[in-house]
Amino acid sequence: MENKYNLPADIPENAKKELIKLLNGNRNFVNGKPTAQNMTLETLQKYAFHQEPYAVVLSCSDSRVVPEIIFDCGIGELFVVRVAGITAGPNVIESIEYAVKKLQVPLLILLGHDDCGVMKYAKEHYPEIDGNFTSILNCVYPVLDKEEDITCHNYFAQQHTIWVEDVLMERSKIIRDAVEAGKLYIAKCHFDHSTGLVNLI
Ligand SMILES: [Zn+2]
Repeated sequence: MENKYNLPADIPENAKKELIKLLNGNRNFVNGKPTAQNMTLETLQKYAFHQEPYAVVLSCSDSRVVPEIIFDCGIGELFVVRVAGITAGPNVIESIEYAVKKLQVPLLILLGHDDCGVMKYAKEHYPEIDGNFTSILNCVYPVLDKEEDITCHNYFAQQHTIWVEDVLMERSKIIRDAVEAGKLYIAKCHFDHSTGLVNLI
């Protein structure tokens, strides 16, 4: 089953199980046959006083990138952090840390996407910081510092997702320790608007 997604061999078993579940859910979405059941008040009441998500997803705020829909999930399955351009500032990092340390999720999905407004804005304005969107641009410009002649926004978004993993590993002891202990796997993904597919980078 996992071979069809070309998963790397070093994924811890529990993270692999959840990642395959989500990628299968994405195929349900693509095929127009969602199966999510946990979308009722009854589900919410079951989790009224606790939660046990099996993955944390860092996704863009973009209205087209809705993790629960594109992964075919219901209430209580995903701990979602959404911020423009999946830019990893302090509050974002600490939100992920909560899911890793307190909720013990085994899987972190970094979900970049096509046609991201942050990538387009950054390309138009690099390297200026003019007082608008300062913290967001400061999270995105380092990729352009390394490779200024990026012309494809979608390629830029994927390079940014790769960079975000580096940032999280460097700035978060909780995330780094969990990864090194084999308790957390970080899956770098890209959402393709034309096909609806979530592809591993
Ligand atoms: Zn975006």
